[in-house]
Amino acid sequence: MSDKTCARCGSAYDPAEAREYLGQMLCEDCYLDAMSPIVVCDPWAVHTAKSLKDLPGGQALSPMQQKLYNLVKERGEVPIPEAAAHLGLSEDDLRREFAPLRHMEMLRGCKKDDGIYLTLF
Ligand SMILES: [Zn+2]
Repeated sequence: MSDKTCARCGSAYDPAEAREYLGQMLCEDCYLDAMSPIVVCDPWAVHTAKSLKDLPGGQALSPMQQKLYNLVKERGEVPIPEAAAHLGLSEDDLRREFAPLRHMEMLRGCKKDDGIYLTLF
């Protein structure tokens, strides 16, 4: 067997276009073929990989919790009223979104003279 033959379809490939997939050398067509089912048929894996990024313990956040976390991460510390305004929430709702984040030890409240600030845990 030639080492310049696609392991899947058996046709000779241009070495410049060959791709390695699971240890086999494939022509570009077969490589794309082999790759596409992962993208098309397994959205859950993609979703998981995205939502678990940066998360200790792997809990999934709601979109609002993710926004809140990103906001605090970006600014370092954010007063509760400002975070609520930024996300379009009431302070009560903001505290509800914040509670699980504190539980997951991602964010915490930090009391200062002029109110409570949200900071990274
Ligand atoms: Zn091929």
